[in-house]
Amino acid sequence: RQELFRELRDKPSVSRDGVAVELMMNAGLAVDLPQLAESGAAGIGLFRTELQFMVAATFPRAEAQETLYREVIEAAGGKPVTFRTIDIGGDKVLPYFRGAEKEENPALGWRAIRLTLDRPGLLRTQFRALLKAAAGRELKMMLPMVTELAEIAKARSLIEREVAQLGRFGYTLPTSLKLGAMVEVPSLLYQLPELMRAVDFVSVGSNDLFQFMTATDRGNGLLAGRFDPLSVPFLRALKAVVDAGNRSGVPVTLCGELAGRPVSAMALIGLGYRSISMSPAAIGPVKAMLCELPVDALQARLAEVLESDAGTGDVRGMLTGFAEEH
Ligand code: PEP
Ligand code: MG
Repeated sequence: RQELFRELRDKPSVSRDGVAVELMMNAGLAVDLPQLAESGAAGIGLFRTELQFMVAATFPRAEAQETLYREVIEAAGGKPVTFRTIDIGGDKVLPYFRGAEKEENPALGWRAIRLTLDRPGLLRTQFRALLKAAAGRELKMMLPMVTELAEIAKARSLIEREVAQLGRFGYTLPTSLKLGAMVEVPSLLYQLPELMRAVDFVSVGSNDLFQFMTATDRGNGLLAGRFDPLSVPFLRALKAVVDAGNRSGVPVTLCGELAGRPVSAMALIGLGYRSISMSPAAIGPVKAMLCELPVDALQARLAEVLESDAGTGDVRGMLTGFAEEH
């Protein structure tokens, strides 16, 4: 199978009936970068910048951040990279950061964009490092755990201040600047048209979105596997996001674990996702699935289950049956 995946690496990532799907990889440290070439990923769909913070003994200095970001951009060699601003708090604890009191419910707590907007120095340093590292190139940045649109506006105004300041000091700026939001808090599902107007792209964080939609701690072994993401309500939510993006002309990707399992990746493609981001090791298996997939037929079958009145269709059963047939 390893050989099959190597052969697939340089083949276009297109379904049996000619639908192109961009397969991107998730990364977070310099050691991940060689995987770009090895996996044949179309780019880095999610760069988790908090990993540099988590492996350090103290806050990484501005220079260290800039150095890493430049290394990533250079390794990508023109392929797109989406940098997510630090997503700490919750399950991602920094031992040297004592800003937070002990929280009863860290997953619902002071984390990600909430924390960094309250400590704007952190965010401004990171934006400046990213802007400098992407001088003369495209820069894509993404905000984690957005709950309300005001958070995007606040982050955007911090970016604008950094851009203005770097400009005044004569720095070369990125050629283009795109700001996106993760869709991983369910509140965003009820303001999708407004969300699409507020961002340049979105990426669904299916790990957290599923955790919050089902009120199920993603790290709790007692509940592992209890609820299935390949179920009517969750897939309806994922479809609403991609449909809203298509209506507004805003690119939508998905970068949670779902993207990396062939059957669930198949479901995503059936819902209309044309770009997904996963661990590099998953790209071969997902591409092998894609090359055999009749997208049109799948889309019709999936729509039938999702629109059925009962709303209780066995989606996973349908998908595995479909996979076996084809
Ligand atoms: C997610 O929540 O699906 C996601 C991609 O982010 P993380 O797993 O880093 O929380
Ligand atoms: Mg998340």
